[in-house]
Amino acid sequence: MTDVATGEATELLQQLIRNQCVNDGTPESGNEDRQVAVLRSYLDLPGAEVQTYSKREGRGNLVLRIEGTDRTAPTLLLMGHTDVVPASASGWQRDPFGGELVAGEVWGRGAVDMLNLTTTMAVAAQRLVRDGFRPRGTLIYLAVADEENQGIYGAEFMTQQHWDAVGAGYVVSENGGVRSDLPTTAGGLNLNLTVAEKGTQWVKLRVVGTPGHGSAPYAADNAVAKAARIVSRVASYEPPVRLHEIWRRYVTAMAFPAELEEAFTDPARIDSVLPTLPLGLAKLVHASSRNTFSPNVVSGGTKVNVIADEAHIEIDIRTLPDETRDAVRGLLQDAIGDHWSDVELLYESDNVSTASPFESPLKDVLDRVTRSLLPEARLVPALTVGATDNRFFRRKGAVAYGYGLMSPELPMSQFRSMFHGRDERVHVESLRLSTELWVRTAREFLA
Ligand SMILES: [Zn+2]
Repeated sequence: MTDVATGEATELLQQLIRNQCVNDGTPESGNEDRQVAVLRSYLDLPGAEVQTYSKREGRGNLVLRIEGTDRTAPTLLLMGHTDVVPASASGWQRDPFGGELVAGEVWGRGAVDMLNLTTTMAVAAQRLVRDGFRPRGTLIYLAVADEENQGIYGAEFMTQQHWDAVGAGYVVSENGGVRSDLPTTAGGLNLNLTVAEKGTQWVKLRVVGTPGHGSAPYAADNAVAKAARIVSRVASYEPPVRLHEIWRRYVTAMAFPAELEEAFTDPARIDSVLPTLPLGLAKLVHASSRNTFSPNVVSGGTKVNVIADEAHIEIDIRTLPDETRDAVRGLLQDAIGDHWSDVELLYESDNVSTASPFESPLKDVLDRVTRSLLPEARLVPALTVGATDNRFFRRKGAVAYGYGLMSPELPMSQFRSMFHGRDERVHVESLRLSTELWVRTAREFLA
């Protein structure tokens, strides 16, 4: 079947890239209704039940449901986001919004994050509808807006306001199924099945000083100078290493050479190997083994001849599974030390880490289907250090995985560098594999 399906997936992905649904974080960006229109016309065929939902004009979400015949059977939701992050053409070898097909690859922003999966999930759903698929369990395809900001108009809205339309016990969204290029003693292909993601605890601090004339700074209580010291302390802070169960399971499943495995599972040794690793891997190991603190925004002062009486600092804190907000705030307090009494906490988000069990009936099906397509493959449970829409569904009790299939030609290191990076592109072979994955998984899991 796959030539026609792959051709459709290629064309659909090109259209979604060309629609340029760039989410810059402002409510008026995104314009995901353009994607909804394309998907709707592609999916609109007899027997398909397609609905759209919007919290804000222009930022629609699309749902296609294939109702199961047995209310006690599981529901599977395939979810893809339709927005992309900005891309400036400079530094790209091709137009980031051209959707060009060159030597078997589709180029453009969103090709791997994650219009490829949004597309192949749609193609799979469309083929199942056309084939008259009548499963016991319900299949839902959900195309959501606003993943690249905070899901306010997308997954958060849909899970809070339209659970009747998207409620599911099992969810698959981005991302996984990418071949690891780390050394392994197991042979074959190690593919990541993302079972958990870190939380975000974004913090905004206010630092107060005393205004005065900039011409006489002796013994000044300068808010900008204090903020600079605080930023420097936070940036150089070394939070305690904590090796979570999910990290340990990942390390064991990857079957690293003994020396690496020993270092990766020993809190006292893990940091000593970081400088010996490729930078991309070192960043991943570091972020997977502790809460991280990155001060990324600073502002303050009013005029060059006025001693600053106020400054603001924003810190991106990423938290491990099972952390509490209070415990993480305690670490921030440690980092800031005796300047803690100079700061006021203006804002602190509470977006805790989420996790699903690796072992589940859905994992068993994904594993079997994957090996039917790539016989060498082994699924490895993974933690992602970023955030995805899966968190909204895990909080509702769903088992949610980040998965898909990419051509084994593409190693993880290259995949990661294209994510929000330059020259983002995907092999047509990856579109073929993922389309097959969704069709076979739906047939097997919902039968
Ligand atoms: Zn994404």
